[in-house]
Amino acid sequence: MLKLRDICAGYGKSEVLRGVSLDVRQGEVVTLVGANGAGKTTTLKALCGLIPTTGGSVEFGGEKLSGKAPHEIVELGVIMVPEGRQLFSFLTVQENLLMGAYKHSARRARDQRLAEVLQIFPRVKERLPQLAGSLSGGEQQMVAIARGMMAGPKLLIMDEPSLGLSPLLVEQMFEVVRLVASRGTTVLLVEQNVFHTLKLADRGYVLENGTITLTGTGTELLANPHVRRAYLGH
Ligand code: ATP
Repeated sequence: MLKLRDICAGYGKSEVLRGVSLDVRQGEVVTLVGANGAGKTTTLKALCGLIPTTGGSVEFGGEKLSGKAPHEIVELGVIMVPEGRQLFSFLTVQENLLMGAYKHSARRARDQRLAEVLQIFPRVKERLPQLAGSLSGGEQQMVAIARGMMAGPKLLIMDEPSLGLSPLLVEQMFEVVRLVASRGTTVLLVEQNVFHTLKLADRGYVLENGTITLTGTGTELLANPHVRRAYLGH
């Protein structure tokens, strides 16, 4: 479904990605893990068209994404839930969710989509009239994922959804990702919470200094001595 081949990208003269290749197949949950500054967010930005690539290619559903504008990539069904939630604080939860359906094709089916999404996120349903800025961090994260689902994604990309959440909320957040995936949405998840993520993911990639150094199933990577030492602390 998604194919990255030898992607190079960076900011100005500083090259961050030095040939990143990865695949996401339909129906999979794939995770990209790595330390701070490894280039995880940069990889997501490059594939969503938010920064230009200086080498390599990105394909989604057989179509070339390199060179396309971000809104064109969204129209193809590639939806990103950015790091740090980025809700509209002075709009209600409901208004935030409806903003998620701005994609041309999603606009027509908005009400039906909202009903479906609220089935996955019952807690969000209770908060519909509340201002998004007044929600707790965990609730805001759920709204951000729910907003991403409103676009009817073929591929939902999440950047650090567990960031800043308490351990209990981290568990709940991963439960939501599992639920989203079980309903048929393909997921690419960037996380620093390596243990939970690898437990959940079908496959994972380890990114170090702008290149993929390891790949395998979630179970294989959890058992890998390098992963255990570098990311799990044992
Ligand atoms: P984190 O978990 O800390 O977000 P990451 O793996 O997502 O880490 P990136 O955000 O992709 O890492 O950053 C990779 C490198 O690119 C870092 O060295 C960072 O300082 C640099 N970088 C990120 N954003 C910019 C920017 N807008 N301008 C210049 N350099 C940047």
